[in-house]
Amino acid sequence: MSKESVVRGVPGVRRAHDAPPILDVELITLFPDIFDSFLRTSLLGKAVEAGIVRITRTNPRDFARGRHRQVDDSCYGGGPGMVLRPEPLAAAIETVQGERGRAHRVLLAPSGRLFDQATAFAFARRGRLMLICGRYEGVDERIADLFADDIVSIGDYVLAGGELAAAVIIEAVARLVPGVLGCEASTVDESFSAGRLEYPQWTRPPEFLGRSVPEVLRSGNHAEVATWRRLESLRRTVARRPDLLLRCPLSEDEQALLEGRKPKRRRKPSGPDGPDGPR
Ligand code: SAM
Repeated sequence: MSKESVVRGVPGVRRAHDAPPILDVELITLFPDIFDSFLRTSLLGKAVEAGIVRITRTNPRDFARGRHRQVDDSCYGGGPGMVLRPEPLAAAIETVQGERGRAHRVLLAPSGRLFDQATAFAFARRGRLMLICGRYEGVDERIADLFADDIVSIGDYVLAGGELAAAVIIEAVARLVPGVLGCEASTVDESFSAGRLEYPQWTRPPEFLGRSVPEVLRSGNHAEVATWRRLESLRRTVARRPDLLLRCPLSEDEQALLEGRKPKRRRKPSGPDGPDGPR
């Protein structure tokens, strides 16, 4: 039997010393040092140290040929800037997979589909990810054609390279992995998890620069707090991110809450085959 221990800094989580990582990320990057302090810091740093998350960095330059180990070249058809050649990237990807197994291969590109919380959950469930970081003018299209399972952008702007995009994805995905956050409930009751923004929050002191914490939050009435939070979450979503409502429209209850009406009384569920059960 393998030894078990409490994971340092992660309350309540016990893991065997030789347990495999729950999230295993392969980074393909020309600039592996960018991640140094990021991977050592805070909850992610603890999860890496505890072996819950493993991040392995591989530099395609190590697979480039020639005296100068050149990884880029000019663009066919003309145009400014250099494009990453396919051979060093392909060799890095295949070597990593040969050594540690197949991963879900994600190419980072501004032209990819937008990364969001649903994708973060999906990546967390996959367990083994490869994040392929481009640089310069981008990556030879054959890498996307032959190796990418997914092409992902972190937003409608252009970064100089995929490394910071990869860091964003690692942080968003890692905090969904059991044992990384102290309190697992934090990932359920937060912005985007249910298609809504999170309600506003306060801490001590109760008064600050003439602004006080809403009375209801100090009332100790849990039901009222829950209703108030739900309403504030809806108000904030309507005001700041109405686009979320297109994807996940207001329910009747939510509409009633926003309009200050009493929600209709729900019928009691009558078992899995009853009126409220699955059809
Ligand atoms: N010429 C490319 C274009 O217009 O789509 C931009 C290339 S960008 C300067 C270099 C690399 O940074 C990309 O290959 C990609 O890996 C990364 N990158 C830049 N912006 C990104 C974003 N919004 N999301 C994900 N990766 C991004």
